[in-house]
Amino acid sequence: MKKILISFFFVFLLMVQPVKAQPLVHLAFLIIPETTTATTNMNMNNTPPPSSSGVIFVDQSKPFTITVDDGYSRPALKKLITLKKQYGASFTCLLFPYGAALKDNEDLFAQLINLGCEVHNHTYHHIYFRNTTAEQQKEEILSTDQAIEHVYKLAKQKRPNIKYFRPPGGFYDLNTIRICKENGYRIMLWNVITEPNGKNLSVDERARYIYSAPKGSIILLHSKERDMDALSKALPVLLKHYGIPAH
Ligand SMILES: [Zn+2]
Repeated sequence: MKKILISFFFVFLLMVQPVKAQPLVHLAFLIIPETTTATTNMNMNNTPPPSSSGVIFVDQSKPFTITVDDGYSRPALKKLITLKKQYGASFTCLLFPYGAALKDNEDLFAQLINLGCEVHNHTYHHIYFRNTTAEQQKEEILSTDQAIEHVYKLAKQKRPNIKYFRPPGGFYDLNTIRICKENGYRIMLWNVITEPNGKNLSVDERARYIYSAPKGSIILLHSKERDMDALSKALPVLLKHYGIPAH
């Protein structure tokens, strides 16, 4: 009886505890690798196991995926446009602007779509889903969904069939998982970030995180000029490492 009660307690705990995205920054990436070239020798066994919620941390179907969050800085978005023009389809580029930033910079996002980037969902007001109701979460996700539809119309492009949601700060709970499933979204987090623990690193330090990412990494950048400059330095290294021609 005691065992049953204890089990029940733990099931109860699981139900009421918010699911904190984990890891926000995987321990393997807290230390900048010593090597100065792209490497795949990191222990991929440290990669978080696939979770039953379907949350994505890595994508082994690609050498690497560049993701750019937020989208408020026009100078940074312009730098990304220049990079995308230079490197074309040689790298996958997923953009996660929050709705308000997307609305403000629709013209640039439409250009990025036409250059082969995809636009996905990052809430409307960049809300952390920690003490939010299911209704608030749904409103944040669906209002951004409409803004995304609009920018694809502006770009005269078809929206990709697979929709991704990236919760700001990596915070989500069981409601988020349910709302995403009901609305055809998959939750995409990351395994490499250029601002571990919110550190404001130099361009070179950020570039090292990018080009040292193990195969299949989902690399999180922000729409900041510093991150775009780091990407500019790291891309040639990564493409050379994987033998991908810049086209
Ligand atoms: Zn964000």
